[in-house]
Amino acid sequence: MEGLIIKNISNDYVVKSNNKEYTCKARGKFRLDKMTPLVGDIVTFDNNNNYILNIKPRKNYLIRPNVSNIDNALIVTSVKKPDLDTYLLDKLLTIISFNNIEPIICFTKLDLLTKEERKEINKIIDYYKKIGYKVVTNENKNNFNNIFKNKITVLTGQSGAGKSSLLNLLDKNLNLKTNEISNALNRGKHTTRHTELYEVLNGYIVDTPGFSQVDFNDMNKTDIGHNMKEIFDNSHQCKYKDCLHLKEDKCYVKEQVEKGIILKSRYDNYKQFIESIKDIR
Ligand code: ZN
Repeated sequence: MEGLIIKNISNDYVVKSNNKEYTCKARGKFRLDKMTPLVGDIVTFDNNNNYILNIKPRKNYLIRPNVSNIDNALIVTSVKKPDLDTYLLDKLLTIISFNNIEPIICFTKLDLLTKEERKEINKIIDYYKKIGYKVVTNENKNNFNNIFKNKITVLTGQSGAGKSSLLNLLDKNLNLKTNEISNALNRGKHTTRHTELYEVLNGYIVDTPGFSQVDFNDMNKTDIGHNMKEIFDNSHQCKYKDCLHLKEDKCYVKEQVEKGIILKSRYDNYKQFIESIKDIR
C-alpha cells in the first residue's frame, strides 16, 4: 500500500493511507542505505506486518524540522509588538526560495496599528505582492483556504509574531496540541524525536521552532541575488553578467534602488547577506 508519513516518534512512523492510520517500523535496509524515512515521505508499506518498504523520491527535505516534500513555508511576520523586522523576513524569504520551497508571508497584528501606521505598512505589503511574493494576513481564516489545500506547509517566523493566535484562528485544537508538545520539549520530558503533520484546511502544517534559526549555509554570493525576486529580475539588465550589484558600474539593480523602484530596505538587506557570506573562491 502507499501512504504519507504524518508522524514520527522515536522509531515509530504513522502512515496515513485512504484515511486510515498505520503505525509502522522502518526496515533494516534503510539503515544500510543510510536513509531514514521522514515525515512527509510518500512510502509503500506492508500493512500485514506494518513495515515501510520503500520511500518515493523526495522533492526536498529539511533537517530541522526533519520533514520532506515541503511545498510552502509560511513566514509569520508581526508588524507591531514586535515591529516589522524586514531583515529577518528577507533572510527567510531568500533561504526558503533557495531550498525550492514556496515562501508565503503572513503579516500579523495589523489590528495594533494606527491609521497612519497602517498606510505605511500597506505600502510595504503591496511592494512584496508586486515583486511576486504570496502575501496573506491573519485577519480572516478564509485567507488560508487555497494556501494549505493538498500541500505541506512549514510555519516559521520570529518569536512573539503571533503564531499561536494564528494556529488558534485555524483550529482551536491544533493550538492545544502543538503547545502540549513544545511544553513537554521545554521541560525536557520529551527526549525522543517527535515530528508531526497536522491537518488544517485540507492540507498539512508542521510547526517547529527550528526553522527560524536557519542560515545561509551552502549558499554563495550569487545564490543570494538569484533568490531575491526583484534583484534577480532586474539583474539581467546589468552590464556585467556576474554583477553582484555592489560597486560595479552600469548596474541596473543599483539604478532601480536609486529611483526608488527597488525598496531600499530590500537592497540594504541584500548587501548585508552578501557580506555575511564568506566565499571560498
Ligand atoms: Zn548589477
